[in-house]
Amino acid sequence: MPTLLYQITPADPHAHLFEVLLTIPSPALQGQTLSLPAWIPGSYMIREFAKNIVTIEASCEGKRLKLGKQDKQTWLAAKCPGPLMIRYQIYAWDLSVRTAHLDANHGFFNGSSVFLRVHGLEEVPHRVHIKPAAGYEHWKVATALARVHEKNIKTKPWSFGVYEAPNYDALIDHPVEMGTFVQAHFEACGAAHEIVVTGHVPNLDLARLQSDFAKICTAQIQLFEPKTAVAPFLDSSDRYVFMTQAWGDGNYGGLEHRASTALVCSRNDLPVVGQETASDAYRAFLGLVSHEYFHTWNVKRIKPAVFAPYQLEKENYTPLLWLFEGFTSYYDDLILLRCGLMSEEQYLRALAKTISGVLRSRGRLKQSVADSSFDAWTKYYRQDENSPNAIVSYYTKGSLLALYLDLLIRTQTQGKYSLDDFMRHLWIHFGRNFYKGQPRGVCEQEIAELLLQSTTCDLRKELKLATETTQDLPLERLLAGFGIAWSAKPERSAPSLGIRTRNSTATVAGECVIATAFEGEAAHRSGLSALDILIAIDGLRVTANNLDTLLTRYQAGDTVRIHAFRRDELIAVNTQLDPPGRHTISLSAMEKVPVAKKRLRKGWLRG
Ligand SMILES: [Zn+2]
Repeated sequence: MPTLLYQITPADPHAHLFEVLLTIPSPALQGQTLSLPAWIPGSYMIREFAKNIVTIEASCEGKRLKLGKQDKQTWLAAKCPGPLMIRYQIYAWDLSVRTAHLDANHGFFNGSSVFLRVHGLEEVPHRVHIKPAAGYEHWKVATALARVHEKNIKTKPWSFGVYEAPNYDALIDHPVEMGTFVQAHFEACGAAHEIVVTGHVPNLDLARLQSDFAKICTAQIQLFEPKTAVAPFLDSSDRYVFMTQAWGDGNYGGLEHRASTALVCSRNDLPVVGQETASDAYRAFLGLVSHEYFHTWNVKRIKPAVFAPYQLEKENYTPLLWLFEGFTSYYDDLILLRCGLMSEEQYLRALAKTISGVLRSRGRLKQSVADSSFDAWTKYYRQDENSPNAIVSYYTKGSLLALYLDLLIRTQTQGKYSLDDFMRHLWIHFGRNFYKGQPRGVCEQEIAELLLQSTTCDLRKELKLATETTQDLPLERLLAGFGIAWSAKPERSAPSLGIRTRNSTATVAGECVIATAFEGEAAHRSGLSALDILIAIDGLRVTANNLDTLLTRYQAGDTVRIHAFRRDELIAVNTQLDPPGRHTISLSAMEKVPVAKKRLRKGWLRG
């Protein structure tokens, strides 16, 4: 089978244009179909990347060929003897981990944004020549793609040149960063890991990143492979790459890949040389690192059956994102705790925050985590002001489901088994050989059986209730068995209007805009709504900053006169205030508990 060759150049950084030249040595006899994915695995939303193709043309032996458009993302090149050449330009100006970005400082792309799929040839080797633009030869290149070593030519690491993937699926699962980034290397369980940081970050403590990342990776490899300690990505690359873009505030997130992850954060999240304690923001960033790395097992190799293989031209519906995102969210912080990057107190505080967040929204009473997973494409990924009243997050509720199962298994087996055993079982039966010729995914019907096999616990009934209904999970009772006290104390004394206000940076200076009016609570009952701008409470001006202060002068049950603008029309309502922070719970480890409970708690939190 001939190899496909893509040549990609950051052709015009000022216009944010990548140029790609695709060479297809033997195109399909009846004409060649080409397309770009509609979505990127890991981010479950139709994004129609083809909209960023600015110009595209086909040619053969120097002659222009007809290139007809079939739909929003598919082209058909007229038949030709080959080689068929497709030249196109892509606009790359999205500062996120999901698409592509290019300016004079750096370039970043996901293959799903820049590499056309050549229909019928998805399984042949795909080669990529990453070429510099004139004036940018000094840039470095970071990717987990395999470098092609040409005879008699010494290749420098981190340089422009020829890379290769065994097929299209692999090609688009190795993002590429280019520019003048800083980098660091570390090993975890003997496997090479690279950290790349793009963006101006004065006095970045790279050594701290190396040592903290190494702890996270080691703990995770040992969780899944306690005997062999083999890193999961070695089936696809000789290294794992953390590609981090650090900018000013505003962008945050990560996207998992089989041998790398793309991260974007604020430079303020990253540690400064000499800073001794970890800031909350840095700990949250480490949680993101832990989350994306955990995906190397859970979703990049252990996958829902419908993702094996992905259908990239349309939505891929699965009711299982609670397992792939929720369980990953459960383990991200738990791993930080187990490897000493978070204290027990910090862990319990974070867990209490997740529980409070889930209990806060009435959407949890309307949507199960299975439905939330299935509808991720139109609901979770396309949230609006009413989402807290209408949907539940398969991340947060999914992580509580993982906690629930973990505590149940540990309780029922007196600490002999845990959710760790279930994860290892999934790894052995689905993940370990996924890229070694056995690509089989997990079906929702087999999960209870897999739990039984791996933990001896028959949790069919519990699993069904927890995933397919909207019942609250009995966490308070279960946590008590681990010596964890649960208390529902309000965090502040001001009575509640039952709203979430818009982040003040997103509003006109000082304006207090309702982002969400929680269903059934004070504002909603009195007729206030999302997007209303609060003007005054009992005749006193309300701003984004003084709402709580104003409310502290009242008691729950008091009625206040509220003036607000809906669009440009003034409205006035009488609102009876609710008790403060009804949904805020806190967790703490009790000192005086029986030894058996203490032992269970230690097993859970220390691993
Ligand atoms: Zn995730």
